[in-house]
Amino acid sequence: MKAYDVVVVGARVAGAATALHLARAGYDVLIVDRVGPPADTISTHALMRSGVLSLQRANVLDRVVDAGTPEIHQVDLVFGSERISFPVADEWGVDAYYAPRRTVLDAVLLDVAMEAGVTFISGLSVTSVLRAEGGRVAGVSVRTAEGDASIFARQVVGADGTNSRIAREVEAPTLYFSKPTNSVVYSYFQGIQTSGYDFRFLDHRNVGLIPTNDGLSLLFVGGPLLEAPVDSEEYLITTLRRVAPDLAEAVDSATRTERFYRAKGIPNLLRDPGGEGWSLVGDAGFTEDPIAAHGITDALRDAELCAEAVSISLQDPAFEAEAKASYREARNRFANSLLNATVPLARFEWDGAEASRLLRDIGEVAAAECELLAGRPSFVLA
Ligand SMILES: Cc1cc2nc3c(=O)[nH]c(=O)nc-3n(C[C@H](O)[C@H](O)[C@H](O)COP(=O)(O)OP(=O)(O)OC[C@H]3O[C@@H](n4cnc5c(N)ncnc54)[C@H](O)[C@@H]3O)c2cc1C
Repeated sequence: MKAYDVVVVGARVAGAATALHLARAGYDVLIVDRVGPPADTISTHALMRSGVLSLQRANVLDRVVDAGTPEIHQVDLVFGSERISFPVADEWGVDAYYAPRRTVLDAVLLDVAMEAGVTFISGLSVTSVLRAEGGRVAGVSVRTAEGDASIFARQVVGADGTNSRIAREVEAPTLYFSKPTNSVVYSYFQGIQTSGYDFRFLDHRNVGLIPTNDGLSLLFVGGPLLEAPVDSEEYLITTLRRVAPDLAEAVDSATRTERFYRAKGIPNLLRDPGGEGWSLVGDAGFTEDPIAAHGITDALRDAELCAEAVSISLQDPAFEAEAKASYREARNRFANSLLNATVPLARFEWDGAEASRLLRDIGEVAAAECELLAGRPSFVLA
């Protein structure tokens, strides 16, 4: 098999966005996934302002909007007995939020990456990394229906999610870990009206509405980790009846269009994102509790930072250590601030005032992300 400049493992938001940036910078990029093209996955999908800015910078926001993703112009927040409503301000060139289904976002990113020249092969499960003499990572081994094969590449990017095989293979040091504390149940409904993001933090629960494609509203309930198996529908309805009776009533008169989705067991996990011949991006490098609604935004931000570090390493390997240290430092600055707010928020021990403060901290990270992105020269080529 031919050798590539870069092989990216994982073809969802982090992998597709990183591959896109690298292909536009002129590199020969292969992206592999054990499944694909991207189907739905367990994740709600509210984008923060900086996530929207990343899509705009990569020139893919229009494609996401053209796929029928509604603009979100209003945010309603409830902290205990306090409700705050505000319009989405026009800042950093972003005047609306979006919450595209992952079937839309991941597919658009992969399509655009392939249009930029990325080769995508699905059905390849990466089993290990290849190493050159001296130990430098030099590609991946894959298992296919036909047997095992080697793919050689000058750089390997692990965008293969929280349980990253690449992270394990390169023994990426763990910089932070805390156990899961949150569980989330959600589904999609036709006929629930919402003026925008509606996020509520009250009575040790986090519930809310996210408008998305096809005129549907995603309704979610988050709370302390469920130890015993529970019926998702009963959990959602009884929680809403207790903390948000208006949403329970709305569910009664709406049509649920899909099954209930449930996630528990998402840890907070920060790994060193780069070494000799390898990098990690997206959840593979930094997973945070979904209560922050920030993982996709992280992935899009880091796709740009990671692609730049990989590009510098390809141009001149003498600068690889410096480029990857700079990626680590920038990524960690945001990740550590997010962890400081997300970990206590996901423990559900707050009152309304504390939840409000923690959410404001997460908002400040998003503003800092916008400042970084908008202030960067466009590594991304049109
Ligand atoms: C319940 C829940 C709600 C969430 N809500 C939000 C939200 O509202 N907003 C937000 O921004 N974020 C949210 N997140 C976080 C978000 O889902 C993640 O941050 C995001 O999915 C990370 O994308 P990724 O591309 O890094 O990894 P993934 O989406 O995990 O993709 C990894 C890919 O790698 C492939 N892969 C894995 N191993 C291999 C292998 N060995 N060989 C080949 N391929 C492999 C997989 O098949 C997969 O396609 C939520 C998460 C959860 C669980």
